[in-house]
Amino acid sequence: MKIHEYQAKELLASYGVPTPKGKVATTVAEAEKIATDLMCWPVVVKAQVHMGGRGKAGGVKVVKDMDGLRAAAKAILGLDIKGSIVRKILIEPGVDIRKEIYLGIIMDRASQRPVIMACAEGGVEIEELAVTHPDAIMKLGVPPTYGFRAHHLRDVAKFLNIPATAIKSFNAIMNGLVKTFYEKDCDLAEINPLVINGTGEAIACDAKITFDENALYRHPELELLRDDGEEEPLEVEAREKKLNYVKLDGKIGCIVNGAGLAMGTMDIVKHFGGEPANFLDIGGGAKAEQVADALALITSDPAVNTVFFNIFGGIVRCDLVAEGILNALQSLPNFNVPIVIRLSGTNEEKARQMLEGTKLHLAATMAEGAKKAVEISNRG
Ligand code: GDP
Ligand code: MN
Repeated sequence: MKIHEYQAKELLASYGVPTPKGKVATTVAEAEKIATDLMCWPVVVKAQVHMGGRGKAGGVKVVKDMDGLRAAAKAILGLDIKGSIVRKILIEPGVDIRKEIYLGIIMDRASQRPVIMACAEGGVEIEELAVTHPDAIMKLGVPPTYGFRAHHLRDVAKFLNIPATAIKSFNAIMNGLVKTFYEKDCDLAEINPLVINGTGEAIACDAKITFDENALYRHPELELLRDDGEEEPLEVEAREKKLNYVKLDGKIGCIVNGAGLAMGTMDIVKHFGGEPANFLDIGGGAKAEQVADALALITSDPAVNTVFFNIFGGIVRCDLVAEGILNALQSLPNFNVPIVIRLSGTNEEKARQMLEGTKLHLAATMAEGAKKAVEISNRG
């Protein structure tokens, strides 16, 4: 789960990370009020969207007076940044930037541990840095059984050449960043740029945090930070209906019981030359209501021209799933997307008899079903 910069900064500040003290506005008038209260110029106006690279897209402006602030707020509110419309802006005291540094910690799947990343040339996106200056990036794995220690901090500070005046504030940033990462189960926590300012201190000028969705149940307080307006609308709807759904770009809507089988289904659809429109695991139960929700959700994606049910009756009985599908179709009288269905396992014969004579295309195996779905999809 992603959050906004201002939320990430508030969270980091609660862990002792120095950040500019700003506030969020949704209108030009609110922005003026915040700038008036700050009583300092320059002020920075920053678009709050979940997309990176706001600076380049015109979403970050440093202004010197109230006229400049008004113009910047007006220009940024409503701006389209890579498909996200700006509804909130962060108004902060400007920082006198002398040096921009990158500092981040990510969960690295390859090495199965948190990895601290640092680069003395921050500001631009880390992906860009990795291409242009791969040698300039320090990567420091933290073994889970050993944990983050003071020597890690010293190594990073040394690598970044942190000036003596900034050591105290840099330590506060690094300790706070790492503590946030561990305590809140983050996938990523990064500060870019971490700035050395005019008085030689370190301060977090930008912050990006994403949380591990699978650990969110341990942090009910973080759920409040979610901004549905920034997420894929179909995924928001799926979450409300407790469906495990990820939108993709293809035309074949997949409805599968079990996450592993759902992954395998996407693979086999691709194998036969089709493109899955989604990942969807409806779980072991597959009751009529869930099936109806899944069908409605998947086909509200206008790109979907075929639905492929891939059901393995291990614990769930195939006849119950068939009943669920029939009931679901009865509750969706205008449903006209072709459906291919493969049901195998417990009571598959009974299920097949129930679906015989309907418009559904029955398949005996996963491969046959996938082939058929691709064929129908490519025709339409
Ligand atoms: P991003 O482009 O979405 O990563 O947004 P950032 O918050 O990182 O801002 C982009 C760039 O704007 C930074 O790298 C800085 O160069 C500049 N910037 C951001 N805040 C300030 C500030 O307070 N003062 C000055 N002078 N520049 C800033
Ligand atoms: Mn940034």
